[in-house]
Amino acid sequence: MIGGGLAGCAVAYHLARDGGADVLLLERGELNAAASGNNSGSFHAQIPVEPFLNQGEGWARRFAPTLHLMMAGIARWMELPAELAAPELEVTAKGGLMVARRPAELAMLRRKSAIERQQGLEVRLLDRGELLALAPYLAPDSIGGTYCPIEGKANPLMAAFAFARAAQRHGARILGRTRTIGMTRDGDAWLVATDAGVVRARRVVNCAGAAAGEVASWLGLDLAVEAHPIQVTVTERVAPLVPHLVYSAADRLSLKQTAQGSVIIGGGWPARLHPVTGLPVVSEESLIPNLRLAIAAVPAVARMRVVRSWAAIVNGTQDWRPILGELPGAAGVFLCFFPWMGFTAGPHVARVIAELALGRRRADDPEIAGFAPGALA
Ligand SMILES: Cc1cc2nc3c(=O)[nH]c(=O)nc-3n(C[C@H](O)[C@H](O)[C@H](O)COP(=O)(O)OP(=O)(O)OC[C@H]3O[C@@H](n4cnc5c(N)ncnc54)[C@H](O)[C@@H]3O)c2cc1C
Repeated sequence: MIGGGLAGCAVAYHLARDGGADVLLLERGELNAAASGNNSGSFHAQIPVEPFLNQGEGWARRFAPTLHLMMAGIARWMELPAELAAPELEVTAKGGLMVARRPAELAMLRRKSAIERQQGLEVRLLDRGELLALAPYLAPDSIGGTYCPIEGKANPLMAAFAFARAAQRHGARILGRTRTIGMTRDGDAWLVATDAGVVRARRVVNCAGAAAGEVASWLGLDLAVEAHPIQVTVTERVAPLVPHLVYSAADRLSLKQTAQGSVIIGGGWPARLHPVTGLPVVSEESLIPNLRLAIAAVPAVARMRVVRSWAAIVNGTQDWRPILGELPGAAGVFLCFFPWMGFTAGPHVARVIAELALGRRRADDPEIAGFAPGALA
């Protein structure tokens, strides 16, 4: 296993628990220190607004099969607190609201939700009265929206660790601060080179997130995966106000309140890379419009103090579709890569990839065949 984010820790758990495999997870830094531990913790099931506006309905139809993996991801999240003995995951699903303030936004939501419903997602169009009755904290100039009851949230600071602990209980070994640096074929196995020595493995699972392309390049493959710095903001704790996951139909916004009362404001606004360190840092040019959108949707946010903003690298693909399966020409090497919304789908796709690696699921399984590396959308 390469990578100790949510994907890597969850794949390790399933390989060890379900397959009794001898699992070694290699993480170059600390567990959960990349995207998985720095995200907003939203469970997304509705098609995101920004690519819908920028890439259009044709894109949305190609993307739409991905919704099944997100729905399955949310269903899987519901099982995790009990299964992993981890109540600290704070899994809740009180529904997501995409809020329109202009007629054109409502028309867009109507078109988008029709595509979502075709995939079996429950999404209801709400008029102004229904919306404000369900969510009286929303701005009075909201004119309607969509409601998707399965959307919700969990605590990203806890999830990968809960999987890692459970994997270790089933015998998996986890090595932090151990960077994988190359891979070569050795008979029916792979020699995985690390900065602490070489490991021989019959199967390798690439869960390197935004660095998955670099890992695949060692095998001569060009995966076209992307890495983007994006940012999130959190407010002080306030009394319970927002039970839902709130989006804006105008632009990038996700807003929710944690179990402790803080309001988390994100949506994928770009951060910057520091010119000297190369590390992601918060961009003011994104912070202001992101907060403006939050206040436009939920006016009470204007009275809350911001405590912190942070930036991290998200794993992306241009078409927002995941890449899942065995790498072509590299038998025994599997990729578990879910872009942009990998917190939502991670626990499900990790189990799917573990089943593939264990030979318990076929590569032509319709749930994933269309997402295989090299598959055409
Ligand atoms: C700010 C932000 C907000 C987000 N909000 C949401 C959200 O609300 N909902 C949602 O569904 N998704 C969200 N996402 C996306 C989600 O966090 C990611 O898609 C998901 O966490 C990816 O998980 P991963 O395990 O594949 O990758 P990561 O968590 O990035 O883990 C990859 C790991 O691989 C390690 N690694 C890389 N190369 C090597 C190597 N050579 N050797 C050893 N280890 C290596 C890295 O150090 C890292 O720990 C957000 C992301 C960000 C950044």
